[in-house]
Amino acid sequence: MRDEFGRDIRYLRLSVTDRCNCRCVYCMPENGVPMLSHADILSFEEMRDIVAAAASLGVRKVRLTGGEPLVRRGIVDLVGMVAAVPGIDEVDMTTNATLLAPVAASLRDAGLTRLNVSLDTLNAARYKAITRRGTLADALAGLAAAHDAGFANTKINCVLIGGVNDDELRPLAELARDRDLTVRFIELMRMGECAGWPKGRFVSADEVLSAVPELVRVGGQGVSELYQAPGWKGSVGLIRPMTHRFCSSCDRIRVTADGRLKPCLHSAAEVNLRGLSGQDLAEAIRAGIAAKPRGHRMDNGRASDSLRAMNEIGG
Ligand code: SAM
Ligand code: SF4
Repeated sequence: MRDEFGRDIRYLRLSVTDRCNCRCVYCMPENGVPMLSHADILSFEEMRDIVAAAASLGVRKVRLTGGEPLVRRGIVDLVGMVAAVPGIDEVDMTTNATLLAPVAASLRDAGLTRLNVSLDTLNAARYKAITRRGTLADALAGLAAAHDAGFANTKINCVLIGGVNDDELRPLAELARDRDLTVRFIELMRMGECAGWPKGRFVSADEVLSAVPELVRVGGQGVSELYQAPGWKGSVGLIRPMTHRFCSSCDRIRVTADGRLKPCLHSAAEVNLRGLSGQDLAEAIRAGIAAKPRGHRMDNGRASDSLRAMNEIGG
């Protein structure tokens, strides 16, 4: 289905939980946030029905996110249920990968297509400082297990944080030198925990091109601009929501763990999907797509208009 600005909406990001085993400094407060009760969270059946209604409107790709999707009990079953929805031809997941190693093969068997793994540093002490609770070795074990389970085209998501990891751009990019994966550098967005951070923390992804000058632009892939270096097996992506607004090509909608459709990550607008079924559910999703704004308004240091934190929406 096309929105008011002609964008063809084919991609649904579904947050399966607001809980997380980490507390990344830019995403969640150290002591966590008040969690939704189990009754407030969508059941697997409700999620499947939402995906089916979205598919009837043209959605073809679903990404399971969180919080941390791997803390949701029964996640492998949910992957199977979503993958079985007629019309859905891709089911992906965004994860911090610290809990991935034991379940990577089961996720693949259940029908998961691809993984995005969040990894902001290759330094163990720094990883602990950023995630507060995670362990770098667990995340790297998860990444290795994904490869062994047969996942291809894995993407590494690395959020740039000035003064924290911007001295690691080259080693992080070089993860793509000998491996078939894309390392994507993402500009930090002013929302939730980091909304009021000083300007110096917000680094342009152009810094990556200075750190790795041999990168050559080879095209685009959704919201990411793709680069390759001579002889490298994988690629580097830049996601620049702050310095290069890409709202005009945004083809996604989001659903929170408590069943609210968010037409835009950075808008306060939400449409309730809870308690709806059949045509009513499809109509509510249609209304959400119709309400998708032209773009975000995070210019000149202004923070996101979203009323929700990242762990509630899933990125
Ligand atoms: N827990 C999973 C993970 O970390 O991959 C999935 C949810 S997490 C909210 C999704 C992505 O959003 C992560 O890659 C994270 O680094 C990113 N993220 C969180 N807060 C952000 C912010 N303020 N700006 C840019 N990216 C952010
Ligand atoms: Fe958890 Fe992901 Fe947020 Fe980190 S970025 S606190 S791993 S939801």
